[in-house]
Amino acid sequence: MTSNLTAYIALICTSGVFNLFLCIYVFLRRHHYTNIALYFIVYTFTISVYCFASAFGLMGSSLEEMKFLTVMIYIGLPFASPLGLLFIMKYLGINTSKKSLVALFAIPVISFFMVATNDFHHLHYKVFEIDPVLGPPFLYLEIGIWYGIYGTFTFACMFVAFLLLLFRWKETAPVYWPQMISLMFGQLIPMVTAFIYLQGWTPPGVDPVPMVLWLTSILYLYAIQSSRMFSVMPVAKAAIFNSINDGVLVLDAQLRLIEYNQAFKGMFDMVTKSRYGLDFQEVWNSLSGADFPLELSSIDWSKEAQAQLEITHHGSIYQVRITPLKQLGNQKGLLFIFTEMTELKRLQMTLEHRAYHDELTQIYNRRAFFENCEQELLLAKQKELPYTLIIFDIDYFKKVNDTYGHDVGDQLLAHVVYICQTQLGEDILFARYGGEEFVLGLRNYTAVEGEMLANQLRVSLESEPLLTQEIAISVTISSGVAETSVHSEESLDQLIKKADQALYEAKRNGRNQVKVYDSFDTIYQTNG
Ligand code: GH3
Ligand code: MG
Ligand code: MG
Repeated sequence: MTSNLTAYIALICTSGVFNLFLCIYVFLRRHHYTNIALYFIVYTFTISVYCFASAFGLMGSSLEEMKFLTVMIYIGLPFASPLGLLFIMKYLGINTSKKSLVALFAIPVISFFMVATNDFHHLHYKVFEIDPVLGPPFLYLEIGIWYGIYGTFTFACMFVAFLLLLFRWKETAPVYWPQMISLMFGQLIPMVTAFIYLQGWTPPGVDPVPMVLWLTSILYLYAIQSSRMFSVMPVAKAAIFNSINDGVLVLDAQLRLIEYNQAFKGMFDMVTKSRYGLDFQEVWNSLSGADFPLELSSIDWSKEAQAQLEITHHGSIYQVRITPLKQLGNQKGLLFIFTEMTELKRLQMTLEHRAYHDELTQIYNRRAFFENCEQELLLAKQKELPYTLIIFDIDYFKKVNDTYGHDVGDQLLAHVVYICQTQLGEDILFARYGGEEFVLGLRNYTAVEGEMLANQLRVSLESEPLLTQEIAISVTISSGVAETSVHSEESLDQLIKKADQALYEAKRNGRNQVKVYDSFDTIYQTNG
């Protein structure tokens, strides 16, 4: 055996031992790792098989022995590169379906059988002989058509794995770059070595690839040890972190900005990586301005599991949830999650508006009237202030519908509301009570003041007809006014009843007038 050959065998055995060590090392610690470790275990095992079988191959002395050891090599070799690809994909968080897994291992399985049965078809090796010049263990090989397919596939797996890592580079935090570089070299080294070998630039008859695989195992070991490759799966996590729709921001225990994701950047573009390490308060002020002050030091995280608030930024509404990041009970930092709520809020506001407003006239509906008026009435009683209600109804409205149609009727309703609004102050509760009947809640108004307002509305409406394209439709209203008795237990329903009675009187008395419900059970009338 020449000294060169001894060196080759020693190198290849080193690769085998290193890879086997890695395989066993990760296997024994697999419970501490994420499931990508399993792919790595099988990956390094196939490399070990390939290396040891190659080393034995260089000790072979007969053609039969060499053929047997080549079959042994192919137990590991064809599976290594697709397993490497699969491992990288898992590492990057790319999932594979069962079908693509089967497809990925079809060529390796066939290759193994091709080598095992090569004597019958010579599709893998056209010629497989002991090198006539160098003698055993050196081989003279001529590759067959299947070798071409197998070789291309093997290269493609390594190249794709390399490219996947390369394309993920930009999205990966710099802290993980050494890990990424180790993995890229892990693919690049065997790829380049195999290329050099196929070009015929290495000593004839020996495959140099297993001689360099100890180097890749050292790189992998470095990646595992230096940056906890399997424990945290950082690159896959970074991909998930950046793919979620919510904006995420992380502060350390000293409340300094240490991380944010793509979605957050999309929401608040003035935050750049140059702000890493900045004090939270400074970052927060630039996000929310002075409009949404947040004093984190005032929140006791030992009691609060989460804090929530809402902020508006450039017309968008965000719900912000703040959660403490704890380790062994100690607060290690804070996690901010920003959820875009603009659409939801808009929808909520629309629905709320619809629930409390009349669709045709856009003033309060009956429900809103009751909710608001009940409170106003209560307050008036507590403060012993007067409170008055006006209920008015359009006179002969049915005729308008019958004569001009329902649409014109609708226009008239909107017109009545519009004219009233021009007369009414902000503090007056104005609602559509039903069909063509409206109600006004008047804080601080006595019955006399209410009567004056009702007459003012009556006169305005009478003097401002609805002008349609063809005609002018005059309208009058009848009103009932009732003031609550501050010292009684009178309910809103009772007050409405009183105003209704007065309105009934106004109608009965000829319409276009105001009637006031008198506390001595008499109703008196005014008509301008
Ligand atoms: P009165 O002077 O006694 O109040 O007579 P009126 O015709 O105004 O009263 P009546 O209660 O007989 O008729 C009210 C009509 O209002 C009946 C109904 O069809 C119509 N109405 C109710 N709501 C609407 C609406 O939203 N749009 C239109 N166009 N008509 C409505
Ligand atoms: Mg009417
Ligand atoms: Mg009516």
